[in-house]
Amino acid sequence: MSSEPADWAAYAVAGVREWEAGFGPVEPHASVSVADDQMRAALDELGERLRENYPFFSPRYAGQMLKPPHPAAVAAYSAAMRINPNAHALDGGPATAQLEREVVADLAAMFGFDREPSGHLGHLTSSGTIANLEALYVARQSHPGKAVAFGAEAHYTHQRMCGVLGVEALRVPADDRGRMDLAALADLLVTGRVGTVVATAGTTGLGAVDPVNEIVQLARRHGARVHVDAAYGGFFTLLAEPPDPLVDPVPWRAVALADSVVVDPHKHGLQPYGCGAVLFRDPTVGRFYVHDSPYTYFTSDELHLGEISLECSRAGAAAAALWTTLRVLPLTPGTGLGAVLAACRRAALHWDRHLAGSPVLATYQPAELDIVTYWDRRARTTGEVDASSARILRDGMRDADPVFVSTLSVSAADFARRHPDVRVDGERVRVLRSVLMKPEHEAAVPWLLDRLETLARAASPLEVSR
Ligand SMILES: *Cc1c(COP(=O)(O)O)cnc(C)c1O
Repeated sequence: MSSEPADWAAYAVAGVREWEAGFGPVEPHASVSVADDQMRAALDELGERLRENYPFFSPRYAGQMLKPPHPAAVAAYSAAMRINPNAHALDGGPATAQLEREVVADLAAMFGFDREPSGHLGHLTSSGTIANLEALYVARQSHPGKAVAFGAEAHYTHQRMCGVLGVEALRVPADDRGRMDLAALADLLVTGRVGTVVATAGTTGLGAVDPVNEIVQLARRHGARVHVDAAYGGFFTLLAEPPDPLVDPVPWRAVALADSVVVDPHKHGLQPYGCGAVLFRDPTVGRFYVHDSPYTYFTSDELHLGEISLECSRAGAAAAALWTTLRVLPLTPGTGLGAVLAACRRAALHWDRHLAGSPVLATYQPAELDIVTYWDRRARTTGEVDASSARILRDGMRDADPVFVSTLSVSAADFARRHPDVRVDGERVRVLRSVLMKPEHEAAVPWLLDRLETLARAASPLEVSR
């Protein structure tokens, strides 16, 4: 192995240029040609501007859900972007449309849906938001006049998209682990108002996995659909495999019984932004999308991705990037993407194990995936917890040896349910939160914890109480 990583993007683009050369030379028009000096100056300026970023690539960054894509994705995206295919219609990019079908079949199979075209319907989207919108749109079309129920910890997009769709939204309270409360769901279902239940498999804040299995059973009893929002957590289903599952297999197995599921390859699938996915178990829901376009669809009778999607133009390069990534890191449990997720999950387990014996920091609630939440255990009131979290976040970023974390605002009542010994003296409280979503975090956990405990100790308990 060479010490300098290969420039795979340049390698992949060279392949496209070779293909282009087969069509003969094209002289760029004067209106778009730019002098080298001018190009260099603009790019240098950009380089300066881009420094105004947090180091998402580094294990020092253990804050929000952010990390760079895999080099395979960067290379494939760069190459396909040079062609710039549009996923909307087969004419806009036949090659990437085919790649998209293949990766969608892979994702369907990962969740236990039938990988054959007759056994699922799905496509990539530009985000998890749009993917969820499509699932809720199909929910509305198939259960008109009925409400959508989702957990109190569900992503805010569900409330918002119910508003967009003009569908009644019902919030189901969470239990003391941030999961949908089943008794509360059952009470809602008996009213007959609910057409669709949204289960979240990996909440954005805590990484809590709703009891999908029980939700499916309850919903079925009342004729309701089930949509699983696994935008963040979806790929963790790879860790639900025997003999040593690193996540509870029960909810993940049950995703196969849901009517639809969303996963964001741009979160845990090593992709650049612009890559969500929605999958339906029943391919006949395609009828809800039917439309006629005078502009597009003319080269074949095959189903066009644009015919089963609410979005029109969408980057074909996203499919190329995901397809290539899954060639080198397939959706397998112990290897490929599974090994990436396993390292992240082990990092979180290690984190919580360490905090159980820490004199300074405590776990807010045990991590189910790779999102850890923690607080200054020396605090005696929720106000002190809040102040300490804010200070550690700020001091960590400012330090010469920086560490970047994030905070999660929870209600004081939710805090008290988990930690009744801390006196409540306010409405809300910030706890610290780290998304350990880079496999490199596994090796970095001891260092990260040491830095955070040092930062916490730097304030005397007296200072914490102010
Ligand atoms: C991130 C996320 C979304 C929204 O997806 P985007 O890709 O950011 O639009 C929806 N639901 C959950 C559970 C998420 O984690």
